[in-house]
Amino acid sequence: MSDSEKAAIFQQGTETFLTHGGRDPNAQHGFVNTPIYRGSTVVFDTLAELDDSKIRYRYGRQGTPLTTGLETLVTELEGAAGTVLTPSGVSAISLAFLTCLSVGDEVLITDSVYEPTRRFADSVLKRLGISTRYFDPRIGGAIANLVSEKTRAVFLESPGSLTFEIQDLPAIANALSGRGIAVLVDNSWATPLFYNPLALGADIIIHSATKMFVGHSDVMMGTVSANDGYLDQLVHTHRTFGLIASPDDTYLATRGMRTLAVRMKEHQARALELASWLDQMDAVEVLHPALPSHPDNHIFLRDFSGSGCLFSIILPPASRQAVAAMVDAMRVFGMGYSWGGFESLILPSDPKRIRTAVPWEVRGNLLRIHVGFEDLNDLKADLSDGIARYLNTAGM
Ligand SMILES: *Cc1c(COP(=O)(O)O)cnc(C)c1O
Repeated sequence: MSDSEKAAIFQQGTETFLTHGGRDPNAQHGFVNTPIYRGSTVVFDTLAELDDSKIRYRYGRQGTPLTTGLETLVTELEGAAGTVLTPSGVSAISLAFLTCLSVGDEVLITDSVYEPTRRFADSVLKRLGISTRYFDPRIGGAIANLVSEKTRAVFLESPGSLTFEIQDLPAIANALSGRGIAVLVDNSWATPLFYNPLALGADIIIHSATKMFVGHSDVMMGTVSANDGYLDQLVHTHRTFGLIASPDDTYLATRGMRTLAVRMKEHQARALELASWLDQMDAVEVLHPALPSHPDNHIFLRDFSGSGCLFSIILPPASRQAVAAMVDAMRVFGMGYSWGGFESLILPSDPKRIRTAVPWEVRGNLLRIHVGFEDLNDLKADLSDGIARYLNTAGM
């Protein structure tokens, strides 16, 4: 394929790009997929080659044609200047922080953030002399009131992957603009297919690729993408930490990307169907930003073009035994961390334990639901039987 043919593909629809982007059969004897390059050493024929800084691949840690392909896919989808791969989503988060923070700085983090993000800030960042303040996920432009001389970064996760508040990114970015404060967004839930934070004022985008990009519950990986302002510092920090994603995992993540659009469409439809069905039950409160009943639905409709596979429900206050009666006997839903795979999951969790800026006042038990690709009637039957056991055990 010529360069102009390739450029034409980049201008076509996202699905065409996901199918054809980041690979070059001509460079692989016609084989459709870029193979796994399992290598540390790259050999050079001449001293002139060794000295040629333009040679793309010089050592395994600096990537292979396969890592370049996956980085290209994420970069183009996010509308970023570049992307790096990391061994997990958590390492992507720590890398993003250390890209833009130094001793004496302060970071503002949404109170709804993924718990390990909070743990990194409260332990490693604190030890490095970087302070953290948590803010109300619904703060919007009033974040300006929290900013100090020391504030160098703001971290958003929209929606929060447990409690599903949407943050008003345009208002936040607007309130911070021109002050040299990096806006970081964990975009794992919506993926760049349904949300483009860089276009709304963000600077650095993080993915737990483990979830939607990989899509099959078999790989841990993360990505960090940056705009022009932060790319050099990101690449430099990534290099100096020596972070890499394994060749085999990169192959599987690339394979996952080929079906991302179809999977997201299907996940979206199934999660919405299940969430709407649950929303009609008296005993159930649903936290899904695409439902009209969600308090941030207006921001969701304005900023997102679709929704993900993950949402939460709240059941009336009841004992731990009631939760056990529900989940222990479930037949289709597995109980586990993570999400984004082909199989449905349910996870009881307690935000009260985690929150510090705005106490979690909601009474009742929260359960997070990941909707996979099983028959929807089987999923509904499993849930309604489970909820009946819960209410029964609680004497309701
Ligand atoms: C799972 C998750 C992460 C961490 O990713 P790992 O690949 O598990 O390290 C980060 N952010 C969100 C929103 C997640 O759900």
